[in-house]
Amino acid sequence: MEIIENASLVNFNTFRIHCKAKILAIIRNPNDLSFLMDYIQKNYLQYYILGGGSNILFTEDYDGIIIKNDIKGVRIIESTNENVLLDIAAGEDWSRIVEISIKNKFYGFENLAAIPGSVGAAPVQNIGAYGVEQKDFFHSLIYYDISESQLVELSNDDCKFNYRDSIFKNELKNKAIITNVRYKLNKKPILNLSYNELKNEIQKFLVVEPTPEYIYNTIKRLRSRKLPDLAKLPNAGSFFKNPIVSKEKFDEVYQKYPNMPFFVLNNEMIKIPAGWLIEQCGWKGKRIGDVGVFDRHALIIVNYGNATGKDILHLAQQIKKSVEDRFGIILENEVNIVGSN
Ligand SMILES: Cc1cc2nc3c(=O)[nH]c(=O)nc-3n(C[C@H](O)[C@H](O)[C@H](O)COP(=O)(O)OP(=O)(O)OC[C@H]3O[C@@H](n4cnc5c(N)ncnc54)[C@H](O)[C@@H]3O)c2cc1C
Repeated sequence: MEIIENASLVNFNTFRIHCKAKILAIIRNPNDLSFLMDYIQKNYLQYYILGGGSNILFTEDYDGIIIKNDIKGVRIIESTNENVLLDIAAGEDWSRIVEISIKNKFYGFENLAAIPGSVGAAPVQNIGAYGVEQKDFFHSLIYYDISESQLVELSNDDCKFNYRDSIFKNELKNKAIITNVRYKLNKKPILNLSYNELKNEIQKFLVVEPTPEYIYNTIKRLRSRKLPDLAKLPNAGSFFKNPIVSKEKFDEVYQKYPNMPFFVLNNEMIKIPAGWLIEQCGWKGKRIGDVGVFDRHALIIVNYGNATGKDILHLAQQIKKSVEDRFGIILENEVNIVGSN
């Protein structure tokens, strides 16, 4: 375990916010967890669990211990003609694991290519993209239970996965440190081409029988076209979740805005793209000082240089207010805010 006092967190969050932690503890071995948590509890310190910092906004210095999960390792637990069951340590980089899987002809993750962050955080918000969520291949996970000081295993059902949601954002929020995640991947390709943008891109190049490798490369290309380059425009991906509204609410808004895009989830609930709502309120491409809304994707707030966490939060609050005033829809943050408002 590496301990750094008064540590700068600028390289530990993709918004590149300049802030500090009283202590940064980098964990490379799960055995260090019980010692560290014991120390934290005895000294009444506050703590926060960090992966790659790509879904986090620090709004101030952190007066406690940031536990950076850097536990590495991948192994095959089981292999049949049909599937492979992988055990992946939480500190592994998600994109690297997707790349390795495809190279080894283990399929399923191709639509989830190039999502920044760690494997341990993937189940926390049930990451998803292009019609696939990590829950579709999730088998089980192991977490360190902070109050019981023991390792616990959870199945797919136990994790209560939902759209950008899981038990780790609710009952187990800040109570569990995920150490290993197990995914069951296919040895025979089963492609998911349900997402229109992906389907259209494949049709554009007249590809009749796309392979998983082709899908993987196509997704990487689509993402780099659509999303800001993290090295040049720091951000944390979608700042807000796409709101899911009742049929009644949808009808009320749709009557006024018949061009509004939507996805029917079931008879009662409809998902509306938050980016469209934000764009209608005139935010796309707007910049205030060092913070702004990305000009190619209105769901993404970017740091143009020296924005503080509070600057970013303030813009997010203004966006939320204008969407609520205009559509009567309340946007929920996808990004985790660490610190005061
Ligand atoms: C450019 C860009 C594009 C993105 N695109 C997508 C996308 O397409 N789809 C999508 O779903 N997300 C997307 N995201 C968001 C982000 O990539 C994911 O949320 C990712 O899973 C975050 O991983 P992380 O390791 O950086 O988590 P962090 O930001 O470090 O943490 C996120 C949350 O998980 C918790 N956490 C982290 N590790 C653990 C652990 N081991 N145990 C328990 N809790 C833990 C933290 O406490 C925090 O609450 C994007 C982000 C960026 C910057």
